[in-house]
Amino acid sequence: MKCRRCRAPAVVDVRRHNAAFCRECFLRHVREQVRRAIDDHDMLQPGDRVLVAISGGKDSLAAWDVLRELGYDADGLYLGLGIGSYSDESSRYAHEYASRHGLTLHSVDLARDYGYDVPGAAVATRRAPCGACGLSKRHLFNEVALERGYDAVATGHNLDDEAAVLLGNVLRWETAYLGRQHPVLPAAEGFVRKIKPLVRLGERETAAYCVLSRIDYIVEECPMAAGNRHLGYKELLNELEDRSPGSKAAFLLGYFERAHSRFAGDAASERAHLRPCPECGAPTTGDICAFCSLRARATVGDEAAVELVARRTARGRSSGRSARRATAPAPPGAPTGAG
Ligand code: SF4
Ligand SMILES: [Zn+2]
Ligand SMILES: [Zn+2]
Repeated sequence: MKCRRCRAPAVVDVRRHNAAFCRECFLRHVREQVRRAIDDHDMLQPGDRVLVAISGGKDSLAAWDVLRELGYDADGLYLGLGIGSYSDESSRYAHEYASRHGLTLHSVDLARDYGYDVPGAAVATRRAPCGACGLSKRHLFNEVALERGYDAVATGHNLDDEAAVLLGNVLRWETAYLGRQHPVLPAAEGFVRKIKPLVRLGERETAAYCVLSRIDYIVEECPMAAGNRHLGYKELLNELEDRSPGSKAAFLLGYFERAHSRFAGDAASERAHLRPCPECGAPTTGDICAFCSLRARATVGDEAAVELVARRTARGRSSGRSARRATAPAPPGAPTGAG
């Protein structure tokens, strides 16, 4: 097998493009795909500061690496979820990458800073762990980005993740979620811009990028992922892709090009009903925002944690920062992991 660009021996094949690449040309291919996603969707402007949601996995570390290679001012944010040894390991990979490259990695820990963790929240709320986890991530990535003056939050969601979410949303005709499913969600009052620069790359490509760039990442899946609906959709799409390479990209990229605009109004009308959460100031459609509600339920019965939450809430109000916080609703089954 020869490299499509330079005819040197190939090390990676990308069936979707019916092409194989040598190491250098593959790394260039990945950067070109990210550049194209950024340009096609106006994700970033020159001089923007980006906060990359870092999980320690291949996608988020690849996103951070490529954004830096493309010359963007990109820092990381690691969120400690309290998922036993999985969280310990993922934290280690995230911090090792940052220190090896001399980069800024902010860190928030759910237990230390908010008095609960993902397994505890799942038990307390009787919800699937991914629901509590995704909600916490969306709220805190947004909050930290607003507080620290970043222009955008970048996540490592790749083509496989997004195609699986699209399938789930289409199966239920979740029109408001379909309206929000896009590689860029613009900033609005209380919301920083959200971007998905890996949306043109499959997870096999992001894994190969990390291996060929010598980026160490946590290989194990989160133990809480087992049985979640999103994984089932991914498996179905992988079977389809095996029979007909390119199906996933045609499904997802065709949606962005030809169908997304038909649903954008459904998402906009939901945003029109937002008001500030009385606890933290985040825009919400409820009496209090979903994050404050989750935090209150997850810390019930733990007096120390409740006190911690109360102290943080008071501090947030007195500093005047909380009015800018936000919790975005999410598609069901969304790939809530940062990578
Ligand atoms: S699978 Fe992802 S979203 Fe679910 S609990 Fe684990 S890290 Fe969070
Ligand atoms: Zn080559
Ligand atoms: Zn709130």
